[in-house]
Amino acid sequence: AREEGPDSIRLFNRALSEAEQARQNLLADLRQAIENKSLSLVYQPQFHVPGGKISGCEVLLRWRHPQQGWISPQHFIQLAERHNLISALTAFVVRQACLDLTSYNLLGQGLPRVSVNISALEFNNPALMDALQLELDKASPLLPYLQLEITETAALTDLKASVMQLARLKQQGLRFSIDDFGTGYSSLMMLKELPIDEVKIDRAFIRDLMKQPRTIAIVEAVAAMAKGFGISVVAEGVETQEQLQCLTACGCQEAQGYLLAMPMGIEELVSFMQKQQSV
Ligand code: C2E
Ligand code: CA
Ligand code: CA
Ligand code: CA
Repeated sequence: AREEGPDSIRLFNRALSEAEQARQNLLADLRQAIENKSLSLVYQPQFHVPGGKISGCEVLLRWRHPQQGWISPQHFIQLAERHNLISALTAFVVRQACLDLTSYNLLGQGLPRVSVNISALEFNNPALMDALQLELDKASPLLPYLQLEITETAALTDLKASVMQLARLKQQGLRFSIDDFGTGYSSLMMLKELPIDEVKIDRAFIRDLMKQPRTIAIVEAVAAMAKGFGISVVAEGVETQEQLQCLTACGCQEAQGYLLAMPMGIEELVSFMQKQQSV
């Protein structure tokens, strides 16, 4: 028992340094993955609720680690943010998505827009936004089809700076979406101040739709506000037919979720859209 204290501390330290080592290894692997372009993209279609036409799609990053298999984007994006790699990731996403969508000629009538996620950290860092701008310059004819998704936290750190940043990007034709809407603390302030084009109602609201009557009133109110502003409203994470029906009744015009379509590779998206058009 005398030895217990120091021993357990030693064990604890060893566990810590093992975790730290694992993190360092993963970081090195991520750097490698960016360099080798062994990251990939999937696309999740979004739909107009009445009618079912495709209204756009969201691009999501995927990383298959050679030993550890699929790693959740939440996990490696956080790692990238902490180690100055996020800009390289976003550049890859923008470049590859533009390449994919133009080489299959998908943008336009069939696919009105494509949404790319921008990390909060990035949105609030002028140097990183300059790096993004360089990537956008290379894609300039596609910018009117491009939408950037930012979270509430991102846009709220400095509201004035955000307004200017959004205005500058919107001049180039880009659209803006507020992701995970309703989970932050100042959702209404954002609606009031920011020149946005879309809100995405967070999955948590959709999940509770059938369980908690208040949620219905919230979704109705958000849909009504969005309508009043002339912006789109997308429900995220729609998994059941009941949710979809309820959303329609609430006046929510667009939806995304496993019920409607899973995230898929570019080739799958092409055949998905062909099927969609032939029905
Ligand atoms: P998010 O932006 O909120 O993306 C939506 C997430 O919900 C995606 O998870 C998507 O696969 C998942 N999803 C879609 N439909 C359903 C559904 O019906 N039910 C459920 N339970 N989930 C659904 P994913 O791909 O694992 O991404 C997780 C998060 O990682 C994203 O959340 C986003 O914050 C981040 N992320 C993914 N790709 C990128 C990227 O390219 N850049 C940045 N900065 N972040 C990304
Ligand atoms: Ca998103
Ligand atoms: Ca979201
Ligand atoms: Ca999210």
